Amino acid sequence: MTTTEECRNCSEESCSAQAKRPGEGEADYLDRQQLARRMCRIKHKIIVLSGKGGVGKSTVAVNAAVSLSTRGHRVGLLDIDIHGPSVPRLLGLEGRHIAGNGTALLPVDFSENLKVMSMGFMLRERSDAVIWRGPMKYTAIKQFLRDVDWGDLDYLVIDSPPGTGDEPLSICQFIENAQGAVVVTTPQELALLDVRKSINFCRQLGVPILGVVENMSGFVCPNCGEVTHIFKSGGAEHMAREMGVPFLGRIPIDSGLVASCDAGAAFDYFNSDTGSAGSFATIIEAIVGADVEKEEGKREDAGQETVERRNGEMRVAIPVAGGKLSPHFGHCEEFAIIDVDPQNRSIAGSERVPAPEHQPGLLPRWLAERGATMIIAGGMGMRAQNLFAEHGIVVVVGAPAADPESIVKEYLAGTLKTGDNICDH
Ligand code: ADP
Repeated sequence: MTTTEECRNCSEESCSAQAKRPGEGEADYLDRQQLARRMCRIKHKIIVLSGKGGVGKSTVAVNAAVSLSTRGHRVGLLDIDIHGPSVPRLLGLEGRHIAGNGTALLPVDFSENLKVMSMGFMLRERSDAVIWRGPMKYTAIKQFLRDVDWGDLDYLVIDSPPGTGDEPLSICQFIENAQGAVVVTTPQELALLDVRKSINFCRQLGVPILGVVENMSGFVCPNCGEVTHIFKSGGAEHMAREMGVPFLGRIPIDSGLVASCDAGAAFDYFNSDTGSAGSFATIIEAIVGADVEKEEGKREDAGQETVERRNGEMRVAIPVAGGKLSPHFGHCEEFAIIDVDPQNRSIAGSERVPAPEHQPGLLPRWLAERGATMIIAGGMGMRAQNLFAEHGIVVVVGAPAADPESIVKEYLAGTLKTGDNICDH
């Protein structure tokens, strides 16, 4: 039986893999069905995100997977952090390699209930560097999701690469029905700025936010018990309240955790009641119990604008010069403003608007006033990306200098290949 027949015989009528998308090629459609077949055997998918690296995202992902598996759930842990895969080290699985059965990749069995797959299993040495351009990362992420034979799972916990770039974007696009995202941050202002971007990013992609975790929140002196707030504390809770998302809890800095993680003993650590293990346990309760529907309802009530949910509207702005995407965002001739029908994931309308005169800081406001919910650009500096995030506009960078309508069609079909941020000053 072909994949198409299997999907056609499935009773889940609401599954998007039942029908070809407008303009979708046969190979892409079959690919999408194969991915859907894997994913539909997994009940809950939780994506762990962070605005920047080193804040404890992998630690939280490993803890979530370990805790769920020790409660008797069938769990998969997928480490998709291509440039810094740390899950093998945290679980003492370094040196293990991926096996295949001819048609699929087989995850490593950590325990009876916990299966693990990581980019780290593909590297020869921990210090090996992965140097891939955008399209290769996109393909690798798709393979990890489509070709790994997880079997039937209750939970798949996905450790995403940090930031709001191509890799997390691909993950959120590939997994259509994620239970939600957990966003990990540390309490400093800089990290909080990035986490706001992560929250906007999820909202704009329609991924529910299960909540925010504040990690490295104060250091408890092991001798006298006094708490020192090295990076301040409480900022994430304040920010979560302000942005209308659940706050899941804070985890203190714990030297015992570092030692256990470095020794590959994260599983034993999280199974104990020492140090910060208790704080992690409380957070897992909150994640598993997070009422996604309530959170979604709250978002609608608060009138939050998301790319796909602002009155069902999605409006993409693309800087244009000579009829094609202009790599120089701030100096383009005009903008293509393209309306998308989110139901059919197709273009509903398109117009060209002359760019305003160049004035620092003007474009985010100007495009927000024109209802843009997303910008697809060749390149853009971080400062500008932050300004757009503050105006509720998600930014995709690294798009090719092609015709704007084709770019949007490819984006909607999940086949837009993005490269490096080509103009990031
Ligand atoms: P990320 O995935 O965000 O890059 P990691 O989870 O790999 O971050 O954590 C980075 C480092 O910080 C690791 O060495 C980890 O052991 C350590 N770490 C994470 N959380 C804590 C904590 N609460 N206390 C002490 N060290 C921590």
